[in-house]
Amino acid sequence: MSGAAAGTTGTDVVWNGRELPPGPDQDAVMKAITGEISGKGFIVGNLDNIVNWARTGSLWPMTFGLACCAVEMIHAYMPRYDLDRMGVIPRASPRQSDVMIVAGTLTNKMAPALRKLYDQMSEPRWVISMGSCANGGGYYHYSYSVVRGCDRIVPVDVYVPGCPPTAEALVYGIMQLQKKIRRTGTILRG
Ligand code: SF4
Repeated sequence: MSGAAAGTTGTDVVWNGRELPPGPDQDAVMKAITGEISGKGFIVGNLDNIVNWARTGSLWPMTFGLACCAVEMIHAYMPRYDLDRMGVIPRASPRQSDVMIVAGTLTNKMAPALRKLYDQMSEPRWVISMGSCANGGGYYHYSYSVVRGCDRIVPVDVYVPGCPPTAEALVYGIMQLQKKIRRTGTILRG
């Protein structure tokens, strides 16, 4: 807490010369500050909540598709579902992205490249596995050339079922990820 009006004496927190009850916690301090500045054009919030609000409102997925599921992913970006309105804007570089949507069949040959792209994304980063192939190999589960689930290569946060999942299902998966981000502490996730 900063400002001339705020300070501490021993374990008590003093705000504007007024001593808060013994053993005050952050909530009590916030309440006092809110009372002081309400109606003066300020908004007071918990930093963790504000950071999570910003993160959930600007999820930028990396643009790439591995197979047929990608077509439904592209559909979700188009005007009918318009993911832009939720702040979900595809980026062409992993360095600008915080979400990877694994949309399609992941082959053994592609797996090292997928991992490399994931490693190039900055923290905190999340992964959505879209469709049966990405979730567990799908139709090609017994193929010699297909990875039986992208979670063998990257940690997955949300699985979207279907072959292919509809665009609505992907939008729902993104909403589930937003919920998860809000639930998970900022510091915990790095
Ligand atoms: S889950 Fe179905 S639609 Fe998606 S990539 Fe696999 S085969 Fe294609």
